Amino acid sequence: MNEWSKAVSASSGASAQAIANAVPGGSTETFGGNRGLQIEERLLFEQSQDGRCGVDLPEPPKVTERLGGLARKTPIGLPGMSEPQVVRHYTRLSQKNYAIDAGLYPLGSCTMKHNPRLNEKMARLPGFGDVHPLQPVSTVQGALELIDTLAHWLKTLTGMPAVAMSPAAGAHGELCGMLCIRAAHIAHGQDHRRRVLVPESAHGTNPATAAVCGYTVDAIPADERGRVDLAAFKAKLGPDVAAIMLTNPNTCGLFESDILEIARAVHKAGAYFYCDGANFNAIVGRVRPGDLGIDCMHINLHKTFSTPHGGGGPGAGPVVLSAALAPYAPAPWVVHERGGFRVVEQAGDNNQAFGRLKAFHGQMGMFVRALAYMMSHGADGLRQVAEDAVLNANYLMAQLKDDLTPSFEGPTMHEALFDDGFLKDTGVTTLDFAKALIDEGYHPMTMYFPLVVHGALLMEPTETESKGGLDHFISVVQALAQKAKTANDAAQWFHECPRFTPRRRLDETAAARKPVLRWRPEAPKAQAAE
Ligand SMILES: *Cc1c(COP(=O)(O)O)cnc(C)c1O
Repeated sequence: MNEWSKAVSASSGASAQAIANAVPGGSTETFGGNRGLQIEERLLFEQSQDGRCGVDLPEPPKVTERLGGLARKTPIGLPGMSEPQVVRHYTRLSQKNYAIDAGLYPLGSCTMKHNPRLNEKMARLPGFGDVHPLQPVSTVQGALELIDTLAHWLKTLTGMPAVAMSPAAGAHGELCGMLCIRAAHIAHGQDHRRRVLVPESAHGTNPATAAVCGYTVDAIPADERGRVDLAAFKAKLGPDVAAIMLTNPNTCGLFESDILEIARAVHKAGAYFYCDGANFNAIVGRVRPGDLGIDCMHINLHKTFSTPHGGGGPGAGPVVLSAALAPYAPAPWVVHERGGFRVVEQAGDNNQAFGRLKAFHGQMGMFVRALAYMMSHGADGLRQVAEDAVLNANYLMAQLKDDLTPSFEGPTMHEALFDDGFLKDTGVTTLDFAKALIDEGYHPMTMYFPLVVHGALLMEPTETESKGGLDHFISVVQALAQKAKTANDAAQWFHECPRFTPRRRLDETAAARKPVLRWRPEAPKAQAAE
């Protein structure tokens, strides 16, 4: 809330004349603090009024207190709100969020594609939407068949013999895969292998996962083509290496062309090959990771298979496994026998699986959506997904290569990586550029990642954007690049972006390090004065 509107709300008892005489400060300020449809939304607790309620309830009958003196003595402190107030509050909050349903979301490495409404319709069928994981198995045969069918598609698309369905996200899938690798090494008396090789361009979750599993992380440098430096990689192999964690296509949007050689060398050294499958969208239907010598790979259903990216909500990151790692997969799994489907909840005595990863079977709602997506596309449609995703990214690259600075030469896969070379000596940074895109109504691209190039701008359009939509985005990026390079006041102008958001530049570090997660009532005036 700006200073002026604070004054107005503080003086809500003041006369209309007093308010009319006051003048908002800056040119973007208004009398009431709202700007057009951007409403200054106060917390529920700040909007609360004692005694207000959404429903009229009769006085409770007199009861004998049986809590042995433990009954609450002070008010419970719930906000007092009417139903329309609550509805407006949450509706307005929902509108503050940028979403794929609101516009192009070019966040690289995240595959922010359209979430088809057919998926939503299927997920809401009562037979899927209302099942409970503790229901008797005989009553959920259809749901188990769906999980089994989705597992079949995932295995077919990746060319892998097994899949663990329960991991709840990509990062959780990494944990699952690395625990499988660890279990396999333990089973083979190889637990002394403690080093995991991770390319410099890797997503932060890769080294984090390896560290959580007790491994030390050894970074492999990138070569000048943006790929793993093959010689440096081979030099790092040794009897203490447990695994390599490699992303393909990698986070520079490039296919790791030495992948067969890498797989051969990893296996020869007695280690396993973990592939980060977050970028599977670029190759789905065209390349089977199993054919590349991979031992395990997570699949982010919310990336490649169009399930919603829920803000920390129900995700799904199934992990496909090679024959060598399949025996170490976590329970539970679904088996298809004569007479129906069964859930194996506990591995047998001889089984060396690492145990359980999650309370239940995985995220049913996401499974339904992903399978609906696969079935509505078919095998040929999924192949076209990859082709169109790559086409769109190359279109973006071709249109922007003269205005921005492509980090590497040649065609790209599903995303286009630029560095901040084009901003040299302008006083404008990648961050400023991202903030200017917000004013233009776009969620910014991924910035400062991957770390292998300076001031990275990583853009992933996905296959679900039209040419018209891409052209508009391209023209905006071109205009901003032109402004940064030629305007006299470029640095100052960019530093002031974003201009049109409810809040401008936030102290993001403080917000992350010292989050204010709890509302406390203001001390009553008299007390505060003491
Ligand atoms: C998104 C992503 C992850 C993490 O996946 P989540 O589903 O967000 O946990 C890991 N690696 C790469 C390369 C990614 O893009």
